[in-house]
Amino acid sequence: MKLFQPQSLTMERTNAIDRGPLPLMEHFYTIQGEGFNTGKSAYFLRLGGCDVGCVWCDVKDSWDATAHERTTINDMAIMVIRAHASRVVITGGEPLMYNLQALCAELKAHGCEVFVETSGAYPMSGTWDWICVSPKKFKAPLPEVLIQAHELKVVVFNQSDFAWAEKHAAMVNADCKLYLQPEHGKMAEMMPAIIDYVKQHPKWTISLQTHKIIQVP
Ligand code: SF4
Repeated sequence: MKLFQPQSLTMERTNAIDRGPLPLMEHFYTIQGEGFNTGKSAYFLRLGGCDVGCVWCDVKDSWDATAHERTTINDMAIMVIRAHASRVVITGGEPLMYNLQALCAELKAHGCEVFVETSGAYPMSGTWDWICVSPKKFKAPLPEVLIQAHELKVVVFNQSDFAWAEKHAAMVNADCKLYLQPEHGKMAEMMPAIIDYVKQHPKWTISLQTHKIIQVP
């Protein structure tokens, strides 16, 4: 069995070139289930590679970048065009381990809006229509990424995550949308506290993983 080596991911990023190819774990045209863009159609490109190490991560198979087929930017654009999608969400894994400027530019050249979902732990690359930063305790987000966020989405796993959320809300720009989202396995336990918190702190909005309710990927 091949062991996951975080160092190899660092090498991966250092060696990343603008035109790729990039490790693509999966891709699918679906409905965005979370956060500000909930309910909108979007083509998801999930890039492999992540060294953040969230204990509750539901895409651990994405962590090892070498486990996923390298796919050219051109081939990714063709997938999106064939689906007639007008929005693309680049997610992971941690997609900003790679320089995404060329991927962004290619998709925008085909008339797509481009959104990214990131932990914020790596430097920003690409020109985005929507930046969702979901900071993780396991690898701190970079202040220069947080300040660019259109959306801050904090996963609530336990009571201490409210203070964690406020700490990062103080680091985003004034227009950034603020979301609290229960970790899926803690939904029943944490939802009452999240509801109380949002009622007392109305700058926050609840985000739910609605794709799991409507049973789309
Ligand atoms: Fe999983 Fe995302 Fe955390 Fe990486 S940053 S471990 S992909 S939840």
